[in-house]
Amino acid sequence: MTITETQLPDIYRQIIDEQLATFSQRRSISDWNSIPDTSQIPLDNQSHWLKIPDVISVFVDMKGSTKLSATTADRDTAGAYQLFTGTAVRLFHEFEASYIDVRGDGVFGLFNRDEPHRALAAAVSFKTFSSLEFAGRVKKLTGVDVGCHVGIDQKTVLVRKIGLRSVGGRTDRQNEVWAGKPINMSAKLASLSADDEVLASERYFRRLTHPCATMSCGCPDGQRKALWTEKTLINDDRFDFTAAYSLKSKWCATHGAAFCATLMEADTVPRGKCVGE
Ligand SMILES: [Zn+2]
Repeated sequence: MTITETQLPDIYRQIIDEQLATFSQRRSISDWNSIPDTSQIPLDNQSHWLKIPDVISVFVDMKGSTKLSATTADRDTAGAYQLFTGTAVRLFHEFEASYIDVRGDGVFGLFNRDEPHRALAAAVSFKTFSSLEFAGRVKKLTGVDVGCHVGIDQKTVLVRKIGLRSVGGRTDRQNEVWAGKPINMSAKLASLSADDEVLASERYFRRLTHPCATMSCGCPDGQRKALWTEKTLINDDRFDFTAAYSLKSKWCATHGAAFCATLMEADTVPRGKCVGE
């Protein structure tokens, strides 16, 4: 079945035909070791894609955002979105995410395969902000219970820019398109997570080798505990893995900053000592 001449005006059918011609071309894929700078992601030559192995995606989205109204509480709703999204983008930037984008009321940051601890430090920092600063302020202002959902996954992605180069100075007609599992899976894990819970895929969780990423600081009773608990996803066909790991804790008020700094070093110094050891 194809679209007939009397089914859709010529001008629109032409566009579809051009895209179908691109689809039937042979595609070329270049392998990259790490996430390229956005300016290096191709837009021209529509059949060319970049492939990057084991990219880590940290996805945060706002719990309760559908209850915030742009009609009746416009100023407060605007403020909540700005505080949540603006902080996520700026924190991910400071944690040196290689790529950051906003999707609806969510933000995702991409990290290279050898940066699992940096990705975790970013996720826990944002979660700490959400639970100690964001949720209470927005609740006081709007009466709405908000919070954050966080998902993390890691797998190979393909990327290129898709869209129009420039139409009358408009910049909204193109964007980077990330094909592959980790962005979608991290978004789905986020949607499944409870308030202030980080849900990570098993394949990402296995990359966390540093004890500061897996064991608590021991507060308040001096007992160091495992930070993550396993959740089965065996009967959930939205995922291409069968287990996720759940992290409920935020940065400790006493040791958080030191843990964060240690995790930032952990990707270059794989099995260092943990804070307090
Ligand atoms: Zn502590």
